[in-house]
Amino acid sequence: TYVVLENCIKCKYMDCVEVCPVDCFYEGENMLVIHPDECIDCGVCEPECPAEAILPDTDPASEAVMELNKKWADIW
Ligand code: SF4
Repeated sequence: TYVVLENCIKCKYMDCVEVCPVDCFYEGENMLVIHPDECIDCGVCEPECPAEAILPDTDPASEAVMELNKKWADIW
């Protein structure tokens, strides 16, 4: 799965949301998150993010935000 990092905060572009084939982006407290069970790992959102805030969960930098993505995505 892919996750949204904290540099998404206050990013208003939403380009990632438009390209996601399964609509698995959700609104967090102040940033977007990706639902870990709905993401199909296609990777198309990663290059679309102007804030470079999207990474695969295999990237060490994504570890800190995995729970955050799950928490906010689960609310919806
Ligand atoms: Fe959506 Fe694909 Fe990005 Fe997962 S990797 S959030 S399925 S666009």
